[in-house]
Amino acid sequence: MVAEQYVCTVCGFNMVGYHPAHCPFCGAPPEKFLTWQECAARHHVEGTRVTDRVTRLNSVPRLGFEHAAYRIETPGKTWWIDCPSCFDRRLQVAESITFTHHHFLGASNQYRELFGAQVRIHHLDSGHELCSAFTFDQPFEADFTADGLEAHHIGGHTPGFTAYLGFDCLFICDYVLFRGEQMIYNPFGPAGDTLAGGERLKKILHGRQFTHVCGVNYVMDYGDWLEQFNHGPTYAGY
Ligand SMILES: [Zn+2]
Ligand SMILES: [Zn+2]
Repeated sequence: MVAEQYVCTVCGFNMVGYHPAHCPFCGAPPEKFLTWQECAARHHVEGTRVTDRVTRLNSVPRLGFEHAAYRIETPGKTWWIDCPSCFDRRLQVAESITFTHHHFLGASNQYRELFGAQVRIHHLDSGHELCSAFTFDQPFEADFTADGLEAHHIGGHTPGFTAYLGFDCLFICDYVLFRGEQMIYNPFGPAGDTLAGGERLKKILHGRQFTHVCGVNYVMDYGDWLEQFNHGPTYAGY
C-alpha cells in the first residue's frame, strides 16, 4: 500500500506520493488535507441501491463536494463507474473500475491494488496531469460493450468524457448539473465542445429506454431527466 497519500476534504481529490502546496483539483490549502489513513478512519463508503444491479457509492460523512460512484453487478463481474475518494477496505470486490473522465479518480490506485482491479479511462483523458500518479490498465480509444455495459465516448466536458449505458441506467456523472431545478451544462469545460458532446449524447439516447439517470450528485427518473435534456440545458447561463 502506498506510504504517502492525502485526501482533500473540500473536493475529495487524492494526492498520491507527495504533499502539494494546494489541492491540484480545487486549490484548497494543506489544512484541508487528511492523510489517507485519517480519511479512512473518519469516513467510510456507503452503498444506496438504485436498481437490483446498480448501487450508488458515497463517502459518509460527505467528503466535501465529492462525486458519487456507481457499482454495477453484471452477470459476469462487478464494475465500478468512477471511484470513491475514501478508501474503505470493507467494500465488496470490483473487478473493473472504469471512468467517465479524469476529474473523479478517487482512491482508485488503492482499490486497484486491493481488488486486483482493471482500471480504465479513455486515452484522451489518461495523459492529463491530474492522472499522473494513477495507474490505468490499457486506456481505451473506441466505444465498447462489456458484460452488458456500453461505453460511449462523447468528449466535450473533458476530451475523453465517456457516458455509460446499461442495466436500465444512464451514467452521466457531471456532464450536466442542476442549478436549483434547472439543468445546465457543466461550465468547467470548453463551451462549444460541451454542447457538441451533448448533441452526440442526444443521438446515442434516441429511441433508448432507461429507468434511472445516475449523476454526479443525483439519481433521477430517466423520463424527467430526458425531458429537460431534450429541452436543451444552457451552457452555464451565468
Ligand atoms: Zn481539492
Ligand atoms: Zn468533471
